[in-house]
Amino acid sequence: MDDGLPTIQMVDLGRQRRRLGQRLDAAIAAVVDHGRFILGPEVARLEEDLAARTGVRHVIGCSSGTDALLLALMAWGVGPGDVVFVPSFTFAATAEVVVRVGATPFFIDVRSDTFDIDVGGVDEAIVAARAAGLRPVGVIAVDTFGQPADYDGLRNVAAGEGLWVLADAAQSFGATRGGRPVGALADMTAVSFFPAKPLGCYGDGGAVCTDDDAMAARMRSLREHGRGRNKDDSVYVGINGRLDTLQAAILLAKLEIFDDELVRRQQVADRYTAGLADLTTVPALAPENTSTWACYTVRVVHRERLRTCLEEARIASAVHYSSPLHRRSPYSGYPTAPAGLAVSERLAHEVLSLPLHPYLDEDDQFRVIRTLRAATATSAG
Ligand SMILES: *Cc1c(COP(=O)(O)O)cnc(C)c1O
Repeated sequence: MDDGLPTIQMVDLGRQRRRLGQRLDAAIAAVVDHGRFILGPEVARLEEDLAARTGVRHVIGCSSGTDALLLALMAWGVGPGDVVFVPSFTFAATAEVVVRVGATPFFIDVRSDTFDIDVGGVDEAIVAARAAGLRPVGVIAVDTFGQPADYDGLRNVAAGEGLWVLADAAQSFGATRGGRPVGALADMTAVSFFPAKPLGCYGDGGAVCTDDDAMAARMRSLREHGRGRNKDDSVYVGINGRLDTLQAAILLAKLEIFDDELVRRQQVADRYTAGLADLTTVPALAPENTSTWACYTVRVVHRERLRTCLEEARIASAVHYSSPLHRRSPYSGYPTAPAGLAVSERLAHEVLSLPLHPYLDEDDQFRVIRTLRAATATSAG
């Protein structure tokens, strides 16, 4: 059928690189020439640009999205005896950082429409955790596949109970909810610049956004081994968690085309929805949200058969996430929502992510849609 056609990748960074061309080369060369590789001027410039973009007071660049989550927990002083509510249908890092600081993750189910944390589930879990003698301190909400969680609902619940809300916005930087940008929706927001994320660098990178001056100052210290005013003064036990100057320079170049890329991502998502909505469960965007479309994830019945058909047609696909965290051995001993995690478990069997990047052209995308339609017709029943 599609013999001889090139493979359609999940994310193709080559087109973006060609578009950036000389601008990117110059940005990298400038850093190599000035030589301030650690916390050089590009890091500060990126932090200012991202703060201006989101309207938050502070953006702190750091070494990864995982370390962004970790720095936020460290700044709040989360530790042994503390309980942090996290969704089970997410990437491992969301719960990993909670265990890493010695606290207890408490797994909550997600909504079947948006795949984001179920606010009602958090409410019930707070009661259950307290009844079990545990001490809830906060909630990490994940903006799954690029769509912001229900922060209004979460902050209502959290404020009444004295909990903080941390946004795991590893996939959603650039999205909005109720017209407000991701970064400004929670008490603190962790962003990832992993290469395949919507705003990616050429290695690991991340950032934390917050309006809290004291937390920002603490995280700036924590990312540099807890340094004080002088380099050889320690005021906290920190980490080596800085963002490289080279990565900041690359991100500054990519930021210039990021808004255009977000528009293109939405166009690709719209074409998938138009081509697949009658045949599979396509992603549902809450009316108050925009998404970065970090993943375009459908729910299907005969997933493995469909994946085989896609593979034979040289089309990449991915499964995020094939098991919920509470089912994985390192996390299986932690408390779970009293009502169970039925949605997370079902999604793990049904989700299928399709190729999506700003430069996926219409012909390639119709090849994906055509292949899926043909495969679904033969898989029916
Ligand atoms: C990618 C991702 C992370 C981790 O980001 P890194 O930059 O790879 O450390 C955390 N949470 C979620 C939901 C992610 O998708």
